[in-house]
Order: sequence, then C-alpha cells, then structure tokens
Amino acid sequence: MQKIAIFPGSFDPFHIGHESIVLRSLPLFDKIIIMIGYNANKKSFFPIEKRMKWISQVFQGVDKIEVRLHDGLTVDFCREVGAGYILRGLRTSSDFEYERAIAQVNKQMHPEIETVFLLTLPEHTPINATIIRDIVFHGGDASIFLPKGLDMNEFKVNSKKPNS
Ligand code: ADP
Repeated sequence: MQKIAIFPGSFDPFHIGHESIVLRSLPLFDKIIIMIGYNANKKSFFPIEKRMKWISQVFQGVDKIEVRLHDGLTVDFCREVGAGYILRGLRTSSDFEYERAIAQVNKQMHPEIETVFLLTLPEHTPINATIIRDIVFHGGDASIFLPKGLDMNEFKVNSKKPNS
C-alpha cells in the first residue's frame, strides 16, 4: 500500500518555507501531492495558473511529487486520490492551536487519515505568504523568500490589492 500525503495550502505564493517542508517530507512518503486549495468565489493575489506553474517548475523531475488543484475539503481530496496523510508545517504556537483543531476534527470524522506536522526550520519561521504578497505589491524584491530557478519577473504585479 502506497504512503500518499497531501500537502494542502493556498500557496499564494509558494515560498521557501513550503519548499523545505516538502523536501524534508520526501523520505517519509511514497508520493506527495501538493494540493492548491482554491475557492472559485474568492480572489487570490497570484492567479491559480501561475501558482500551479511555479510549484511544478520547482519540483520538475521529482517523480514522487504531483501538483493538483482542489476546490473543497482536503479530506474529500484525500479520498479521491487514496491519500492517508495530510502534511502541515508548524511555525508558531498560534499555528499549532489552529492546526490542532482542524486535525482533531478531521481525525474524528475521518479516522483513517493522519495529519503529520513538521516544525519549520528556525530560519523559515517568520516567512509567510502575506508578507511576500505585501513586498511584491509595493514593488519590493521578495526573491530571497522564493524558490530558486523561478523567473522573478513573473512575480511583478500592478494595481492589485493583496488579500489578508
Ligand atoms: P494556508 O492557506 O492553509 O495557511 P499556506 O499556503 O499559507 O496555506 O501554507 C500551507 C502550509 O505550509 C501550512 O501547513 C503552513 O503551516 C505551512 N507553512 C506556511 N509558511 C511556512 C513556513 N514559513 N515554514 C514552514 N511551513 C510553512
């Protein structure tokens, strides 16, 4: 039986904190599906096609990693693809409290699915997508927080407001 994990998030954008969680989890699973969760009624900062493309570029050639889109509950997606694990990263105690509630409710409703947490590397703790969007929105250079090898020109945006 294959050990398949879902790494869900909005990844708006995918940054080096996310990349690190995926790379550190690779030895633990046979397959990791990075699931970009989206809501057709909610506007994101970066378009879904770009987010999908960037993540696919970062893990190009890594057979164990897939990138997929999903509009709905992560547990439903787990069922659809036969995944037994949900992977999450923990930065702070507030992440822990938030994630704990979701993981425990998921466990009650879907006992066959385990949520696995990895503590972020200390140097990635302050990195979050909101700050990166803010830097980009104001014309700053956020490249040190983004995975290597991506075209930084594609991150430039005009006249769009970052979501909170
Ligand atoms: P969400 O919208 O679900 O918070 P994100 O795209 O912000 O999704 O994050 C997806 C996952 O990556 C979450 O488990 C989150 O805790 C984790 N994560 C976010 N930032 C970091 C970071 N700097 N280091 C490690 N993990 C992180």
